[in-house]
Amino acid sequence: MGNSTPNDTMAKLVALCKRRGFIFQSSEIYDGINGFWDYGPYGVTMRREVEKLWWKYMVEDRENVVGLDTTIICNPRIWEASGHLAQFSDDMIDCLKCKKRFRSDQMEDVGVCPACGSKELTEPREFNLMMKTFVGPVFDDEHVAYLRAETCQPIFVDFDQTRITSRQKVPFGIAQTGKAFRNEINPRFFTFRSREFVQMEMEFFCHDEEAMDWYAYWRAQRWAFYTDLLGFPEESLRIHDHDKLAHYAKAALDIEFEYPFGWGEMEGVHHRGTWDLSRHSEFSGKDQTYFDQERNERYLPTVVETSCGLDRIFLALLCKGYKEDMVATRKEGKQEDVRISLSLPPLVAPVQVAVLPLSKKLADTAQPVYADLKKAFRAEYDATGSIGKRYRRQDEIGTPFCVTVDFETLEDQCVTVRDRDAMTQERIALDQLKTFLMGKIFA
Ligand code: ATP
Repeated sequence: MGNSTPNDTMAKLVALCKRRGFIFQSSEIYDGINGFWDYGPYGVTMRREVEKLWWKYMVEDRENVVGLDTTIICNPRIWEASGHLAQFSDDMIDCLKCKKRFRSDQMEDVGVCPACGSKELTEPREFNLMMKTFVGPVFDDEHVAYLRAETCQPIFVDFDQTRITSRQKVPFGIAQTGKAFRNEINPRFFTFRSREFVQMEMEFFCHDEEAMDWYAYWRAQRWAFYTDLLGFPEESLRIHDHDKLAHYAKAALDIEFEYPFGWGEMEGVHHRGTWDLSRHSEFSGKDQTYFDQERNERYLPTVVETSCGLDRIFLALLCKGYKEDMVATRKEGKQEDVRISLSLPPLVAPVQVAVLPLSKKLADTAQPVYADLKKAFRAEYDATGSIGKRYRRQDEIGTPFCVTVDFETLEDQCVTVRDRDAMTQERIALDQLKTFLMGKIFA
């Protein structure tokens, strides 16, 4: 990212996301709404691909994890039992001078405003993060409900039902992806801290004696997801072991990524003890214990959780992939120009291959190539503008391979394949093209 400051880099990324239709402000024509973001055509494709990759890795490729999709609004007693209504809060402090609001745990000095330096601040006040709504026609306390603040609580509530219907035995896991809502005091760093976001969580139920082994197992699996599947370099990630633990937990860690604004949590792996199932047993009056036939023992399973934010992974992929370099240009008065590219993993790039005929006259040859590639890859056809401009556009949306059809193609039945990162150009025979790209994209 060259000599850019963190703020520059984030501003450039935000601009790129808007320009190319990855992410933009929600309700923009009404001046937006703080902490809410819309994913445009390329953004939604890529976000879904990351989610699909997680789902395949965590659910489909395993015998001992099953999927679930629960509602966003649940019986509010769930949030009483989980402790969210009593404790899911942050302390906020307002600056009386510039009127900005901060989370006290994110302030370097709780006596000084981080924005304007004023010392005229309010005392810290507790602020519950649950988003409130009403269910039914009467808007009173009896009809209050909440948008889920995390996707895991309904998993705990459905534990027994899911176990029985899926014929799973402990140890096994239940996974879910979906929206979560938090009334964050200070949404910031683009999508990193939003008020509406997607979580991908897996709760693994096991015997307490085995829980620390499963914790080590899931820690390794989750690390491999980032390094092996998404191609994060080891040095861009770190594990932060928590020193302060909840009273019921034996261990907890965060997997952090080095964003331009500093290290930030992408995922948590947590030993949650029997806290959640015991609370839901108590509050619902329905016994959640499990009879383990092999051990001939009845117990409340201990939970090991992996919990990540899809939007934070998405943002990390953009930050990791953003590159600027100088390339030769034919622009008037210039010999070199900045080339912006997004080095996205081919598996999740919104467009995996672009077909670019050198001239519109080549459509009869280029269209069938495109039609064929589209069956196997996310492909795009672009015949407008100079070839240089078309390459630039594909570089900015992170397309790993561009296939150029030129007049020679008519004679030699070959096309040029350009690699986004290496900038190499290779001549490939049309009848080899699909196999060649398969090897590169799905290797
Ligand atoms: P933080 O300390 O950053 O507020 P957290 O510890 O409260 O996060 P968890 O409750 O453990 O987060 O949630 C699990 C995951 O959900 C996080 O690792 C993160 O990726 C994601 N997440 C949490 N809050 C947000 C948010 N406001 N915006 C986007 N993603 C979030």
